[in-house]
Amino acid sequence: MRQSNLFTKTKKETPKGATFISHQLLLRAGFVYQFASGIYALLPLGFRVLQNIEKNIRAEFNKIGIQELRMSVLHPAELWKKTGRWEAAGKELWKTKSRTGEDMALAMTHEETISAIAADILRKENELPFIVNQFSTKVRDEERPRGGLLRLREFLMQDAYSFDKDEKGLDSSFDKMIGVYKNIFEKMDIPAIAVKASAGLMGGADSYEFMVVSSSGEDEIVFCSKCGFGANVEIFKKGDECPECKNATEIKKSIEVGHAFKLGTKYSKAMNIMYEDSKGEKHYVQMGCYGIGMERLIATAVEISHDERGIIWPKTIAPFNVHLLSLRGGEKAADKLYQDLEKEGIEVFYDDMEDKSAGEKFADADLIGIPLRIVVSERTIKEDSVEVKERDKKETKLIKLKELIDYCVSNKLVYVK
Ligand SMILES: [Zn+2]
Repeated sequence: MRQSNLFTKTKKETPKGATFISHQLLLRAGFVYQFASGIYALLPLGFRVLQNIEKNIRAEFNKIGIQELRMSVLHPAELWKKTGRWEAAGKELWKTKSRTGEDMALAMTHEETISAIAADILRKENELPFIVNQFSTKVRDEERPRGGLLRLREFLMQDAYSFDKDEKGLDSSFDKMIGVYKNIFEKMDIPAIAVKASAGLMGGADSYEFMVVSSSGEDEIVFCSKCGFGANVEIFKKGDECPECKNATEIKKSIEVGHAFKLGTKYSKAMNIMYEDSKGEKHYVQMGCYGIGMERLIATAVEISHDERGIIWPKTIAPFNVHLLSLRGGEKAADKLYQDLEKEGIEVFYDDMEDKSAGEKFADADLIGIPLRIVVSERTIKEDSVEVKERDKKETKLIKLKELIDYCVSNKLVYVK
């Protein structure tokens, strides 16, 4: 994509009221637009990051046969009344009315709706197990939205739901999902630790939270800085030594980027989701739910990976693979290189703007944070070369034009989907 075609612009000044670094950088670099506290638009660069995260998640989910669907944001109140959450969810549940006076809820989560679908469809034991997933909008009337994209009133979530015939089946689906989540976070260079949450909070059933250590987090975990072990502060005593490596643990602030809950039969009983076994006996299904907050994950990636000049995106979620900068005297060669790279499936953000100084282009590239910067100028062209710099490294290298693509691919400088 040519940067001259992008309708957003970068900003030099730090936006008022943005205290978190991810909030500042995402606003300044033009990834998001803020309408009000906790309500944002993802602009083209931010939307590309979101799409890349979705692709990474979907690729792992496809490997284990998870089916994708999409549920509505408007929910009839009856569904929430059936599970008792119309009242129990408190003020976070955003209630509204249709013009004819029907009570409605905006999707705070989707356990009620997926349960309604499953209750209608499920009949026999041999239809189990299955896991379904969606990427969809959630709306919550948060008391205090915070930290830019860290806690929103409207956000996108990946939420998957597992259905099994018994507890053993649920254990197996649950373990499978924990494993898949570990792979997903690893692929995106997000150092999320699976932390067992306290049983009391979840009414006895197992739950895991995926936590990323960050000073901007609002949760705390017990953390071992030597081996990366993490545990919930309520079930692990402060000062205890690490069970993995015997190092001293410490309390660290962290951001919850994902969770996995064993719901058991809570919703299947309330919504009457039953299957018939081979003897004709009826049983309630065992459910689990698994979620990742998408915007929060974007913000977390920035919180843990930036410097004083801007964002440093992990390769698999960066809005583009390469930021190509054309400087004076390099225009023609840059145009050709732009086409050659795109032909190779490398996604290029091409700063072709002629009314911008070299300094402004470098500053933009650092702020936007694409993993690889390639500069074409009169000086590099004299040597049949381009200047290559990784966003997270200091040094630049001159690479011969005809060796460039091989160099990028063999050194894993670009991630091609
Ligand atoms: Zn340890």
